[in-house]
Amino acid sequence: MSNVTPKLVWPEDDYVDEAFLEDHQGPERIDYDALVMLANLPPLPEEILSRCPALPVKTRASAEYTLVLDLDETLVHCSLTPLDNATMIFPVVFQNITYQVYVRLRPHLRTFLNRMAKTFEIIIFTASKKVYANKLCDILDPRKNLIRHRLFREHCVCVYGNYVKDLTILGRDPSKTMILDNAIQSFAYQLDNGIPIESWFQDRNDTELLKLCSFFEAIPAMGRDVREILRRKYRLRDHIPFYSIIHQQEGPGRLPLLEVPPPPVAENNEEQLITQVAPKHPQMVQ
Ligand SMILES: [Mg+2]
Repeated sequence: MSNVTPKLVWPEDDYVDEAFLEDHQGPERIDYDALVMLANLPPLPEEILSRCPALPVKTRASAEYTLVLDLDETLVHCSLTPLDNATMIFPVVFQNITYQVYVRLRPHLRTFLNRMAKTFEIIIFTASKKVYANKLCDILDPRKNLIRHRLFREHCVCVYGNYVKDLTILGRDPSKTMILDNAIQSFAYQLDNGIPIESWFQDRNDTELLKLCSFFEAIPAMGRDVREILRRKYRLRDHIPFYSIIHQQEGPGRLPLLEVPPPPVAENNEEQLITQVAPKHPQMVQ
């Protein structure tokens, strides 16, 4: 019965007055592993640079700006082991085994998706397996009026064991495309298009998605290149020695001057169903 899409009963989020929310700032600190990976970023292989976009071109009805959203630890926290306070459970068949996926929804997710879909072409881009992520998207957007397109692990580029979301696969205008992701490695090749967000596992008082609503909604009216706006706001390049010099002047390339070894290649987790990051906060470990 795994092909039946369970109906999601959205939980009520506590009311939060947006007027009293502080500006979105991104994570308090960036993982060292992420910085090492970014500082040692190799050039994209020729076969990746020359591949065709995976998405159909926009229609006249499409929103002018595109918002790419990560799933796990950005919008939801899912697990194959039982979670307290799961909003729902759904089955996924993977390699002939049925798994039960426990789902927690980040607070204010429903508001966020509804509001963003009015302004942006929304694309889910996840490093998780299609069989899991597709079903989760069906549950989150049963009428298919919020999420326009979905991209999965097969659309990522594997770099030092990280699944990187090279945005050129979208075939969209980079000056009007943003990606929201809890792992900055995910948008390593387009750092200026990225909005870093704290990983979410279970905090019911989290307001990160709500903080982003009004900021995102204001962007089209600014009429500026989103890369300029995001670069100034999040200053991600400031954390990465030499990144901006190499990537601005020569395009993506290996950085010869940094005195840190490239990160070890992570063990092959190709068969993992859900791509999860380790919780940063020990108290949040299950
Ligand atoms: Mg994620």
